[in-house]
Amino acid sequence: MAQTCEHLGAAHDVDPSGDGCVECLRDGGRWVHLRICMSCGHVGCCNDSPGRHATAHWHDNADHPLIRSFEPGENWWWCYQDELAFEVEGAPPAPSHH
Ligand SMILES: [Zn+2]
Ligand SMILES: [Zn+2]
Ligand SMILES: [Zn+2]
Repeated sequence: MAQTCEHLGAAHDVDPSGDGCVECLRDGGRWVHLRICMSCGHVGCCNDSPGRHATAHWHDNADHPLIRSFEPGENWWWCYQDELAFEVEGAPPAPSHH
């Protein structure tokens, strides 16, 4: 059984905030890959993107440590607080943009 983290219980069945990074869409920025906050559905860009808005979202919301990839076909989770990557057996497929 793969290791998960204790924050998994706080993950919700979230609705994505949109098809792109919230802050980049607002500011006209560009992103490389997208991540989704599993506490509130905030879609933000990855650390390869200039804005790093997924990480910024966690800095602004310390109680939102869990994200999933928002990329099609990617099922991994990441916990910022534990710096732990994992997959959840039996979890529904990650929400993703098209
Ligand atoms: Zn955790
Ligand atoms: Zn962004
Ligand atoms: Zn959030």
